[in-house]
Amino acid sequence: MDIETRKEHLDRRINSAARRVGREPSEIKLLAVSKTRSAETIRALAALGQHAFGENYLQEAVDKINQLDDLDLEWHFIGQMQRNKTAAVAENFDWVQSIDRLVIAERLSAQRPANMDELNVCIQMRMSDEAGKGGIAPEALFPLADAINSLPGLVLRGLMTIPENTTEIDRLKRIFRKMNSLYSRLKTRYDTVDTLSMGMTSDFELAIEEGSTMIRVGTALFGPRNHGKSSIR
Ligand SMILES: *Cc1c(COP(=O)(O)O)cnc(C)c1O
Repeated sequence: MDIETRKEHLDRRINSAARRVGREPSEIKLLAVSKTRSAETIRALAALGQHAFGENYLQEAVDKINQLDDLDLEWHFIGQMQRNKTAAVAENFDWVQSIDRLVIAERLSAQRPANMDELNVCIQMRMSDEAGKGGIAPEALFPLADAINSLPGLVLRGLMTIPENTTEIDRLKRIFRKMNSLYSRLKTRYDTVDTLSMGMTSDFELAIEEGSTMIRVGTALFGPRNHGKSSIR
């Protein structure tokens, strides 16, 4: 299947999921997760009207951002971030969705160049005990959000989560509902908050039914990723 056909199928599935629960499809933003994909592949998808792209690996991302400098694209960093990599993130991205420590937010704030727009940030939530995914527990959300909200150079836009790897619909639904309820509370507190980033290839329809405003899709758009032996990609 070519990328244009994949995109059409995906758009149709997004539309039906939204309509099923009485939402406007335009309320749901599609982030194309382009980790491991070439600049040329991204260019082909951009030519079909896709504007927002998500990347996990900093050096790979910066290379592609530079190669695609002639296009007006929106770049989201969605990977785990080491403390010594924040400057490159602050200098190259429009959004960071994977904030789970204040020190990272403070560094991004200090390192965001003054001539760029404010960096849009989402707090990454860990909604179950499964280790290794990153994110903060729900109890830690409001103190971190308050601290981030007071940092110059950053705008708090919302929440992101990567749910545990499960095919149990009821578990996923419970996680998405809890996320939506935290998101509603955050929204009443800060008027900059408008983004609930949840849903990937395997679960975006359920996420849309449960209130997601941004789905992050790789495989359904680009096809399966090649898993190299020495890589977690
Ligand atoms: C890779 C990735 C995705 C996309 O995953 P697919 O299953 O390929 O759609 C979404 N979010 C994050 C944080 C990712 O790392």
